[in-house]
Amino acid sequence: MSGKMTSLSSTPKTCHICGLPIPRDIVTPTHFLYGTVDHVIPKARGGLNQRKNRQAAHRLCNEMKGNRLAADLRYSEIRQLHLEVLELLRSQRIMVTHKQSADIQQKLGLL
Ligand SMILES: [Zn+2]
Repeated sequence: MSGKMTSLSSTPKTCHICGLPIPRDIVTPTHFLYGTVDHVIPKARGGLNQRKNRQAAHRLCNEMKGNRLAADLRYSEIRQLHLEVLELLRSQRIMVTHKQSADIQQKLGLL
């Protein structure tokens, strides 16, 4: 693997639903923090399987979103996801600082 590849792949992915990082070392597809591919416009709603319609999301967040648009999620649902994922990340010893969390919450409109 070239050095360039390594630095590219070390860029952490972010879940487009809860805004928190997707740990790259979780390889069990059933794990709640596993990085899935979410269709921004669900296929059930006519979304295409194109790159621009695909975004990374935790399994937990992807399942909660289901066949909806991220914008259709209720405030309480996003807040719940954010808190659950934060807790799961901590249980994996992946620390998100208070400031990082606050920044994300502000971006998601939770603050
Ligand atoms: Zn997420």
